[in-house]
Amino acid sequence: GGAMGEAVHQQGQGAGRPAATVPRQALHFIGGRFVPGKEGRFFTTLNPATNRPLAEVAEGSPDDVDAAVQAARRAFDEGPWPRMLPAERARYLERIADRIEARSEAIARVEVLDTGMPVSQARGQAARAAENFRFFARRIQDLGGHVWQVGDRFVNYVVHKPVGVAGLITPWNTPFMLATWKVAPCLAAGNTCVLKPAEWAPLSAHMLAEIVAEAGLPEGVFNVVHGFGEPAGASLVAHPAVNLISFTGETTTGKAIMANGAATLKRYSFELGGKSPVVIFADADLERAVDAAVFGVFSLNGERCTAGSRLLVEEPVYRDVVEAVARRAARIRIGDPADPRTELGPLIHPEHWRRVMGYVEAGRAEGAELLTGGRRPPGLPPELAGGNYLEATVFAGARPGTRVFQEEIFGPVVVATPFRTEDEAVRLANAVRYGLAAYVWTRDVGRAHRVGQAIDAGMVWLNSQNVRDLRTPFGGMKDSGIGREGGDYSFEFYCERQVIHVALGEHPIPRFGAG
Ligand code: NAD
Repeated sequence: GGAMGEAVHQQGQGAGRPAATVPRQALHFIGGRFVPGKEGRFFTTLNPATNRPLAEVAEGSPDDVDAAVQAARRAFDEGPWPRMLPAERARYLERIADRIEARSEAIARVEVLDTGMPVSQARGQAARAAENFRFFARRIQDLGGHVWQVGDRFVNYVVHKPVGVAGLITPWNTPFMLATWKVAPCLAAGNTCVLKPAEWAPLSAHMLAEIVAEAGLPEGVFNVVHGFGEPAGASLVAHPAVNLISFTGETTTGKAIMANGAATLKRYSFELGGKSPVVIFADADLERAVDAAVFGVFSLNGERCTAGSRLLVEEPVYRDVVEAVARRAARIRIGDPADPRTELGPLIHPEHWRRVMGYVEAGRAEGAELLTGGRRPPGLPPELAGGNYLEATVFAGARPGTRVFQEEIFGPVVVATPFRTEDEAVRLANAVRYGLAAYVWTRDVGRAHRVGQAIDAGMVWLNSQNVRDLRTPFGGMKDSGIGREGGDYSFEFYCERQVIHVALGEHPIPRFGAG
């Protein structure tokens, strides 16, 4: 931390734990320099485990966004970045990856303090972020265009080009890793960008800016403007010099962004919310299915877009499975996210805590059966008493028409519903407006694939979860998004395709006006 002469301070949580170095101030990164906003305003980011202030963050205004977009525009229109060979850009991206790896522990620690994500779960993410840079740096060099040759008369071929200036808008869950999913392919393809990180977890984006500065990228290629959705995010979306918007966040925000960007006709990539089903048949390996169900909804504090937040269980084993999940949920280790033994940390923000609690109340009011959780955990150590903690919560008997079945809760809450037949399982799985992920557990191979294919979800895991090769597409159907990220699918968004038609000899051209 502490590049560009900023003060840093040590922030430990429990006694005896290693302290993390947290930037005391996070400034915008515009045109290769760390700068405060033009209006000089700051907001405070909180530590979710205590709700005590963590750092002061520059609050971006439309003027700041404009300065960042102008810097990115100049870098694209006049600078070397889009004109470099992909192999040259790859060398910069490899340098970024090296520096992420070198600082991975610090990044994980800051992420823990800023988001409340348990450190055991944060650690893998910096490594994954570094891999993203290496992966896209390699991949862009292999990105071939198509060639069509018609005998000896014509050759048509396609070339990939960068699109221009990208606005990258990211959420507060897994903020570092998700930012690199966008930044790495965006830059690899030769675009320039302005990143607007989420206001509730902005510090790891600041660290990414420090790393980019150290890696020596040409100025203006990568910019960060901190601030709120309104006005910072919205003015990025509305800016006429921005060509692409890649957004990860809530479905309602995605709709607002699409409307706001319509006047300037932008290209969009949307990774939105989910309400993903975990379908468990009676013939499944139930022990593994329960392990996966518990981890799938309670890891990352339940703040995971692909969380398996609806358990659909076949009637004969329904009660046993749901009770097993509830027993495990009741024993999850809640605590300081900086403690490597902690399994469930605090929710991101008091406002989000109230929203999730609202769903717990809705579940009760709608007649679902609360098997465990639903409260602020008793007996937290005094230093965590002010944190946004919520017990792992399991509802049984959630009916399809209810809010807890339909709406994304984005917290440690799972709802269970029984089914009798395969058809009913598929119908229930598809009975929501989201279609991000689905998980199917059965030992019947044909049924696993059949049910998987019948569910409207961009990603289906059969007897598994959480394993994903970087080459595969990531994204959702229905209200869960538009487009895919990952592998070459990212380049469908971050590249223009241009076709060149060449005649190899003279071909007949009608001679209008020649008499
Ligand atoms: P959010 O929509 O509230 O905010 C996301 C980002 O958009 C933030 O940076 C915010 O400042 C910005 N924003 C808000 N209003 C804006 C506006 N009018 N114009 C431009 N930008 C605006 O989402 P969140 O609460 O930060 O994140 C949680 C959501 O993200 C959940 O719905 C979750 O499912 C989703 N998510 C999806 C994926 C995926 O890959 N599909 C991954 C992670 C999270």
